[in-house]
Amino acid sequence: MGLQEIRARVAAEAERVGRAPESVTLIAVSKVQPDARVLEVLEQGHRVFGENRVQEAAGKWPAFRARFQGVELHLIGPLQTNKVRQAMELFDAIHTLDRPRLARSIARIAEELGRCPKLFIQVNTGEEPQKAGVRPGEADGFIAECRDLGLPIEGLMCIPPVDEEPSLHFALLAKIAKRNGIAGLSMGMSDDFESAIAQGATHVRVGSAIFGARDYA
Ligand SMILES: *Cc1c(COP(=O)(O)O)cnc(C)c1O
Repeated sequence: MGLQEIRARVAAEAERVGRAPESVTLIAVSKVQPDARVLEVLEQGHRVFGENRVQEAAGKWPAFRARFQGVELHLIGPLQTNKVRQAMELFDAIHTLDRPRLARSIARIAEELGRCPKLFIQVNTGEEPQKAGVRPGEADGFIAECRDLGLPIEGLMCIPPVDEEPSLHFALLAKIAKRNGIAGLSMGMSDDFESAIAQGATHVRVGSAIFGARDYA
Protein backbone atom coordinates (compact mmCIF):
# COMPACT_ATOMS: atom_id res chain seq x y z
CA MET A 1 0.00 0.00 0.00
CA GLY A 2 1.10 3.59 0.44
CA LEU A 3 0.08 6.99 -0.83
CA GLN A 4 0.41 6.40 -4.57
CA GLU A 5 -1.60 3.21 -4.52
CA ILE A 6 -4.38 4.72 -2.42
CA ARG A 7 -4.53 7.80 -4.64
CA ALA A 8 -4.84 5.54 -7.67
CA ARG A 9 -7.59 3.49 -6.04
CA VAL A 10 -9.52 6.63 -5.05
CA ALA A 11 -9.35 7.92 -8.63
CA ALA A 12 -10.24 4.54 -10.14
CA GLU A 13 -13.31 4.13 -7.93
CA ALA A 14 -14.47 7.69 -8.62
CA GLU A 15 -14.18 7.07 -12.35
CA ARG A 16 -15.91 3.71 -12.11
CA VAL A 17 -18.98 5.35 -10.58
CA GLY A 18 -18.92 8.30 -12.99
CA ARG A 19 -17.45 10.90 -10.67
CA ALA A 20 -14.51 13.24 -11.19
CA PRO A 21 -11.48 12.04 -9.17
CA GLU A 22 -11.02 15.62 -7.90
CA SER A 23 -14.44 15.45 -6.28
CA VAL A 24 -12.93 13.17 -3.61
CA THR A 25 -10.47 14.65 -1.10
CA LEU A 26 -8.08 12.09 0.35
CA ILE A 27 -7.40 12.89 4.01
CA ALA A 28 -4.24 11.09 5.11
CA VAL A 29 -4.87 10.21 8.76
CA SER A 30 -1.51 10.65 10.46
CA LYS A 31 -2.52 10.10 14.11
CA VAL A 32 0.02 8.10 16.14
CA GLN A 33 2.32 7.70 13.11
CA PRO A 34 6.02 8.48 13.58
CA ASP A 35 7.14 11.83 12.17
CA ALA A 36 9.41 10.09 9.64
CA ARG A 37 6.41 8.43 7.97
CA VAL A 38 4.42 11.66 7.90
CA LEU A 39 7.43 13.41 6.42
CA GLU A 40 7.63 10.87 3.60
CA VAL A 41 4.03 11.54 2.66
CA LEU A 42 4.58 15.31 2.80
CA GLU A 43 7.64 14.89 0.61
CA GLN A 44 5.54 13.00 -1.92
CA GLY A 45 3.49 16.17 -2.22
CA HIS A 46 0.44 15.27 -0.17
CA ARG A 47 -0.98 18.18 1.86
CA VAL A 48 -4.30 17.11 3.38
CA PHE A 49 -4.02 15.36 6.75
CA GLY A 50 -6.29 14.23 9.56
CA GLU A 51 -5.62 13.99 13.28
CA ASN A 52 -7.98 12.82 15.99
CA ARG A 53 -6.48 14.59 19.01
CA VAL A 54 -5.97 18.32 19.39
CA GLN A 55 -2.98 17.90 21.71
CA GLU A 56 -1.14 15.49 19.46
CA ALA A 57 -1.76 17.68 16.40
CA ALA A 58 -0.56 20.79 18.27
CA GLY A 59 2.66 18.95 19.09
CA LYS A 60 3.58 17.99 15.55
CA TRP A 61 1.89 20.14 12.91
CA PRO A 62 3.29 23.64 13.56
CA ALA A 63 6.78 22.33 12.68
CA PHE A 64 5.55 20.49 9.55
CA ARG A 65 3.66 23.60 8.50
CA ALA A 66 6.78 25.70 8.84
CA ARG A 67 8.52 23.38 6.37
CA PHE A 68 5.71 22.67 3.90
CA GLN A 69 3.39 25.17 2.25
CA GLY A 70 -0.32 24.58 1.88
CA VAL A 71 -0.96 22.00 4.57
CA GLU A 72 -4.67 21.48 5.26
CA LEU A 73 -5.43 19.89 8.62
CA HIS A 74 -8.68 18.12 9.54
CA LEU A 75 -9.79 17.25 13.08
CA ILE A 76 -11.56 13.88 12.89
CA GLY A 77 -11.72 12.99 16.61
CA PRO A 78 -13.93 14.19 19.47
CA LEU A 79 -13.65 17.84 20.50
CA GLN A 80 -13.97 18.85 24.14
CA THR A 81 -15.48 22.25 24.78
CA ASN A 82 -12.35 23.48 26.60
CA LYS A 83 -10.19 22.80 23.50
CA VAL A 84 -12.38 24.59 20.98
CA ARG A 85 -10.25 27.70 20.66
CA GLN A 86 -7.03 25.75 20.23
CA ALA A 87 -8.70 23.47 17.68
CA MET A 88 -10.08 26.40 15.71
CA GLU A 89 -6.67 28.01 15.56
CA LEU A 90 -4.97 24.81 14.43
CA PHE A 91 -7.42 23.05 12.10
CA ASP A 92 -8.85 24.00 8.72
CA ALA A 93 -11.80 21.66 9.18
CA ILE A 94 -13.56 20.00 12.11
CA HIS A 95 -15.48 16.79 11.34
CA THR A 96 -16.90 16.12 14.79
CA LEU A 97 -19.47 18.81 15.54
CA ASP A 98 -22.02 16.78 17.47
CA ARG A 99 -23.82 18.84 20.14
CA PRO A 100 -25.49 22.21 20.67
CA ARG A 101 -23.06 23.36 23.34
CA LEU A 102 -20.11 22.77 21.03
CA ALA A 103 -21.91 24.57 18.20
CA ARG A 104 -22.51 27.62 20.40
CA SER A 105 -18.92 27.63 21.57
CA ILE A 106 -17.59 27.45 17.98
CA ALA A 107 -19.96 30.25 16.91
CA ARG A 108 -18.81 32.50 19.73
CA ILE A 109 -15.09 31.96 19.06
CA ALA A 110 -15.58 32.28 15.29
CA GLU A 111 -17.03 35.72 15.96
CA GLU A 112 -13.94 36.67 17.98
CA LEU A 113 -11.44 35.23 15.50
CA GLY A 114 -13.27 36.53 12.45
CA ARG A 115 -12.99 33.11 10.79
CA CYS A 116 -14.17 29.56 11.23
CA PRO A 117 -12.89 26.18 10.06
CA LYS A 118 -15.12 24.21 7.70
CA LEU A 119 -17.50 22.15 9.79
CA PHE A 120 -18.85 18.64 9.41
CA ILE A 121 -21.62 17.34 11.66
CA GLN A 122 -20.98 13.85 12.97
CA VAL A 123 -23.97 11.54 12.73
CA ASN A 124 -24.10 8.37 14.82
CA THR A 125 -25.70 6.37 12.01
CA GLY A 126 -25.53 3.12 13.99
CA GLU A 127 -27.01 4.78 17.11
CA GLU A 128 -24.22 3.19 19.15
CA PRO A 129 -24.24 4.33 22.79
CA GLN A 130 -20.44 4.56 23.03
CA LYS A 131 -20.07 6.59 19.84
CA ALA A 132 -20.27 10.35 19.37
CA GLY A 133 -22.57 12.01 16.89
CA VAL A 134 -26.17 13.11 16.68
CA ARG A 135 -28.76 10.41 16.10
CA PRO A 136 -30.14 10.25 12.57
CA GLY A 137 -33.56 11.34 13.85
CA GLU A 138 -32.05 14.45 15.45
CA ALA A 139 -29.84 15.41 12.51
CA ASP A 140 -32.23 17.73 10.65
CA GLY A 141 -32.96 19.71 13.81
CA PHE A 142 -29.29 20.01 14.74
CA ILE A 143 -28.31 21.07 11.21
CA ALA A 144 -30.96 23.82 11.36
CA GLU A 145 -29.70 24.91 14.77
CA CYS A 146 -26.11 25.17 13.47
CA ARG A 147 -27.26 27.15 10.46
CA ASP A 148 -29.17 29.53 12.71
CA LEU A 149 -25.89 30.17 14.51
CA GLY A 150 -24.33 31.10 11.16
CA LEU A 151 -21.93 28.15 11.18
CA PRO A 152 -20.40 27.05 7.85
CA ILE A 153 -21.73 23.50 7.58
CA GLU A 154 -19.67 21.88 4.86
CA GLY A 155 -20.79 18.31 5.34
CA LEU A 156 -21.78 15.33 7.43
CA MET A 157 -19.48 12.66 8.83
CA CYS A 158 -19.99 9.11 10.09
CA ILE A 159 -18.07 6.13 11.44
CA PRO A 160 -20.13 2.99 10.79
CA PRO A 161 -20.32 0.22 13.42
CA VAL A 162 -17.45 -2.24 12.96
CA ASP A 163 -19.65 -5.28 12.52
CA GLU A 164 -22.14 -3.92 10.02
CA GLU A 165 -22.18 -3.41 6.27
CA PRO A 166 -20.77 0.11 5.94
CA SER A 167 -22.53 0.94 2.68
CA LEU A 168 -25.92 1.05 4.44
CA HIS A 169 -24.54 3.69 6.81
CA PHE A 170 -22.95 5.64 3.97
CA ALA A 171 -26.28 5.62 2.12
CA LEU A 172 -28.11 6.85 5.22
CA LEU A 173 -25.62 9.70 5.69
CA ALA A 174 -25.93 10.65 2.01
CA LYS A 175 -29.72 10.70 2.32
CA ILE A 176 -29.64 13.01 5.37
CA ALA A 177 -27.18 15.32 3.59
CA LYS A 178 -29.27 15.45 0.44
CA ARG A 179 -32.53 16.36 2.13
CA ASN A 180 -30.72 19.15 3.98
CA GLY A 181 -28.92 20.50 0.92
CA ILE A 182 -25.47 19.63 2.27
CA ALA A 183 -22.74 18.82 -0.26
CA GLY A 184 -19.94 17.31 1.83
CA LEU A 185 -19.76 13.69 2.99
CA SER A 186 -16.85 12.62 5.19
CA MET A 187 -17.00 8.84 5.15
CA GLY A 188 -14.84 5.84 4.36
CA MET A 189 -11.59 4.63 5.97
CA SER A 190 -8.84 2.18 4.96
CA ASP A 191 -11.16 -0.82 4.70
CA ASP A 192 -14.16 0.76 3.04
CA PHE A 193 -13.25 3.99 1.25
CA GLU A 194 -14.18 2.60 -2.16
CA SER A 195 -17.67 1.76 -1.03
CA ALA A 196 -17.93 5.26 0.50
CA ILE A 197 -16.91 6.85 -2.81
CA ALA A 198 -19.58 4.82 -4.60
CA GLN A 199 -22.10 6.29 -2.12
CA GLY A 200 -20.92 9.86 -2.72
CA ALA A 201 -18.09 10.51 -0.24
CA THR A 202 -16.38 13.85 -0.85
CA HIS A 203 -13.78 13.24 1.89
CA VAL A 204 -12.29 9.84 2.70
CA ARG A 205 -10.20 9.44 5.87
CA VAL A 206 -7.47 6.89 5.24
CA GLY A 207 -4.77 6.11 7.79
CA SER A 208 -3.21 2.66 7.98
CA ALA A 209 -3.55 1.92 4.25
CA ILE A 210 -1.28 4.90 3.56
CA PHE A 211 1.10 4.88 6.53
CA GLY A 212 1.02 1.27 7.69
CA ALA A 213 -0.37 -0.04 10.97
CA ARG A 214 -0.45 2.31 13.95
CA ASP A 215 1.83 1.30 16.81
CA TYR A 216 0.17 2.30 20.08
CA ALA A 217 2.86 0.68 22.20
C1 LIG B 1 -8.19 6.61 12.79
C2 LIG B 1 -9.36 7.12 12.03
C3 LIG B 1 -9.46 6.93 10.64
C4 LIG B 1 -8.45 6.17 9.82
O1 LIG B 1 -8.54 4.80 10.10
P1 LIG B 1 -7.79 3.71 9.18
O2 LIG B 1 -8.57 2.47 9.42
O3 LIG B 1 -6.40 3.64 9.68
O4 LIG B 1 -7.87 4.17 7.77
C5 LIG B 1 -10.56 7.48 10.00
N1 LIG B 1 -11.51 8.17 10.67
C6 LIG B 1 -11.45 8.36 12.00
C7 LIG B 1 -12.52 9.12 12.68
C8 LIG B 1 -10.37 7.84 12.73
O5 LIG B 1 -10.33 8.04 14.05
